[in-house]
Amino acid sequence: MTTEIDDENRVADKKLASSLLERVRIVLVNTTHTGNIGAAARAMKNMGLSQLTLVAPKNEPDAESYARSSRADEILDQAVIAKDLEAAVGDCQLVIGTSARQRNLCWPLITPRQMADEVAKAAQSYPQANIALVFGREDRGLTNEELALCHFHVNIPTEESFSSLNVAAAVQVLVYELRVKWLELQDAGLPDWQDEWDVDWADSAGVERFYQHLEQVLVGLDFYDPENPRNLMQRLRRLYQRARLDQTELNILRGILTATEKASGLKK
Ligand code: SAH
Repeated sequence: MTTEIDDENRVADKKLASSLLERVRIVLVNTTHTGNIGAAARAMKNMGLSQLTLVAPKNEPDAESYARSSRADEILDQAVIAKDLEAAVGDCQLVIGTSARQRNLCWPLITPRQMADEVAKAAQSYPQANIALVFGREDRGLTNEELALCHFHVNIPTEESFSSLNVAAAVQVLVYELRVKWLELQDAGLPDWQDEWDVDWADSAGVERFYQHLEQVLVGLDFYDPENPRNLMQRLRRLYQRARLDQTELNILRGILTATEKASGLKK
């Protein structure tokens, strides 16, 4: 026998579980081999994801992509092409990048399983969230600038001396973890995470405008010298990315910058 509360919880779980896979967009940056695009689409369809964005692919999906997708045609047909990563994730509130190796300025680094937890938490506290999982070039991965657009970096644990997976294989591993999380949420009671957030989360495009404004003000105040950057903007970015700003917080920060510009005479 199920009680009404049980039923309500089950509805909430189902809602969260379905939004988990629906909210996630796979973003492939500058892919060289069209076969990899098809293999990534196949992995996505196997695990129940459908949104694919291609950032300036070297070659657009072709017969090789369709062959490798093994009937995940609709994902390739509906793939969105974006000119750069900033445009591809502009409307996203959570952006997770992937990296096969250590970078000079380390970012919050998580495992594929922790990535699935973060995605589930986001889908619960902000069900409208657009979430991106970003994958890099076959030969060079993602640039530091691209990785700096992200909230987290995921590393798939490997042998240290042979750490780089084929890009479609990396997609497979991550979307599998999302599938496992989704299955867990279908069966389990609602996990004990925080409830829905009271304000919309800021999207990546809004946060990027804030970073530009911040840089402009810091240059104006002679606090930041672009000729001698010393990672300042990267460090500030890392700080705010960790905080995961909501829309009200973003408005407050923009307001503080504008007030600073007025008080210091940078702006009338
Ligand atoms: N030689 C490149 C590796 C690129 S592999 C480099 O040095 O960065 C292509 C893409 O597959 C990567 O950008 C990443 O998106 C994904 N990938 C490969 N191995 C991975 C790993 N161990 N962890 C996370 N992502 C990985």
